[in-house]
Amino acid sequence: MKNIIFIAPPASGKGTQSELLKEKYGFIHISTGDMLREEINSGSSLSDEVKNIVKQGQLVSDEIILQILENKLNTIKGKPFVLDGCPRTMNQANHINDLFNRLDIKDFIVLYLNLDEKTAMERSLGRLVCSCGKSYNIYDEKLRPKVDNKCDSCSKTLLKRSDDTEELFKERFKSYIDKTKPVLDYYDNLGMLKYIDASINREYTFSQIEEIINES
Ligand code: AMP
Repeated sequence: MKNIIFIAPPASGKGTQSELLKEKYGFIHISTGDMLREEINSGSSLSDEVKNIVKQGQLVSDEIILQILENKLNTIKGKPFVLDGCPRTMNQANHINDLFNRLDIKDFIVLYLNLDEKTAMERSLGRLVCSCGKSYNIYDEKLRPKVDNKCDSCSKTLLKRSDDTEELFKERFKSYIDKTKPVLDYYDNLGMLKYIDASINREYTFSQIEEIINES
């Protein structure tokens, strides 16, 4: 199975789709955002620096991202993975090429989840997450938790991500346009980019992804 890289605006459903791919096909889900949140919670020497950047909706330095990515790729021993949220800059994309060459990772496809800013913001503002990895949305009837604020799977209290505010969403979207759009153009020019309409619902998005996986 080919590895997958997701590139998409914030709150477009990268994490949700990665979890679906993990459940159905056994992909390892590598989310740089999740790894950074773990770093923040660990109280490590990097945690304050990372926290300050994430809480302003800015991008963490390429050096930190590439280091945590390399560490993670070294632990998964060649199993197929979904890379969620990386590369987000051209510098990351270039270094990932070198890293993949070094680790002998050859086959990957790049999926672009396309979603307009207004819909992405609504999803961001309605999102609730559980520490077990499940994600909900209070503005979508089908994605609301069965019991208010409790996870359907493990009953833990749901949380709002600290960067899911209107102000921080706008910052994150701006850095997506300024820094990540060129990465999309780069993979598009190489003929590697697959376009996915992420505006309808998670099932429709997943069906398009499955079609691409089965063709590749
Ligand atoms: P996400 O969970 O993918 O929405 O990421 C949450 C936040 O983590 C982002 O707004 C950035 O501050 C940071 N982050 C995640 N991935 C990257 C990356 N590849 N490069 C730089 N910053 C990142």
